[in-house]
Amino acid sequence: MIPFLDLKAPYLELKQELDEAIARVVSSGWFIGGGEVDQFEADFAQYCSATHAVGVANGLDALHLALRAMDVGPGDEVIVPSNTYIATWLAVSQCGATPVPVEPDARTYNIDPARIEAAITPRTKVILPVHLYGQPADMAPILAIARKHGLRVLEDGAQAHGARYKGQRLGAHGDAVAWSFYPGKNLGAMGDGGAVTTNDAQLAERIRVLRNYGSRVKYVNEVQGYNSRLDPLQAAILRVKLAHLDEWNGRRSAIAARYQQGLAGCGLTLPHVPDWAEPAWHLYVVQHPKRDALHKALADAGVGSLIHYPIPPHRQKAYTQAEWEKGAFPLAERMANQVLSLPMGPHLPANQAQQVAAALLFSMGADD
Ligand SMILES: *Cc1c(COP(=O)(O)O)cnc(C)c1O
Repeated sequence: MIPFLDLKAPYLELKQELDEAIARVVSSGWFIGGGEVDQFEADFAQYCSATHAVGVANGLDALHLALRAMDVGPGDEVIVPSNTYIATWLAVSQCGATPVPVEPDARTYNIDPARIEAAITPRTKVILPVHLYGQPADMAPILAIARKHGLRVLEDGAQAHGARYKGQRLGAHGDAVAWSFYPGKNLGAMGDGGAVTTNDAQLAERIRVLRNYGSRVKYVNEVQGYNSRLDPLQAAILRVKLAHLDEWNGRRSAIAARYQQGLAGCGLTLPHVPDWAEPAWHLYVVQHPKRDALHKALADAGVGSLIHYPIPPHRQKAYTQAEWEKGAFPLAERMANQVLSLPMGPHLPANQAQQVAAALLFSMGADD
């Protein structure tokens, strides 16, 4: 059996360091905020080449609080990808604002900058690109459009810790980046966690206040805030793991290269990496019209594969009040029907990646 992702292996590799970090927090008796969180924020900001990092409870809150800090509210519109995890859309809806979907570039799966301007209205406030599957979105044209129309840019970096755009790590290309430390992400906690990075001191301060009941000084509440704090236990765990992120991303990259080589020319659509992109390879996603048969054939061969994502947000029951019909966003719908994510992670042995490629080649042959 080859699992899609092994979540125990990262702990086993770093067991001693992680056990020490956890024991340090438990014996400190300090369980909200404090030095561990401050230190992780400093480390993560530095890693992202951003001046500020603000820890929050999860990735959805990172998106939501960043949008709030940008004054997004009822009546506003935020441009989002039509193909993303639903959290990107929900963060907009939680502000009382409206997500306005834009289709992806069919090759990179990231929001197509050439389609953004047609979606801008007088109500548009923010463009929210997602670095999907760990591939950086094409930020230069997105930032140029935002400047031209006086919009802010919030990046969803939940799948892209450590990815680089034109040589520079993601973290502050736009006004802010929202991160998730959900256990399965490239930088994963042992529970929920999230952060926002930014070079904008005022945005960072507003998020700090919003995450803590709208309060800067205890029992003095300036705005109606939230309880959305990064746990010191998770911060201590993340500090340990951050030091290994580049090495672990390197292993992902080696697996991607193996897949890219082993699957070339077999009839599957493989990931396309523009020359300015250094992906974090959160997921390795292939595409094929007979995806469901391949998914099943892999399962029969003992290989775990997943679909990211089987239903696009505009086709979810959660968004049926919007008047989008089937076919409204054909690229997002085609992806939902055709994408398949192969096993990927820093602890997938090379020989297993080889076996995955072989099983896939075999099912492709059996399928023709
Ligand atoms: C995981 C994820 C989120 C949400 O993160 P949580 O920590 O689970 O709230 C948001 N956007 C994308 C693209 C994600 O993959």
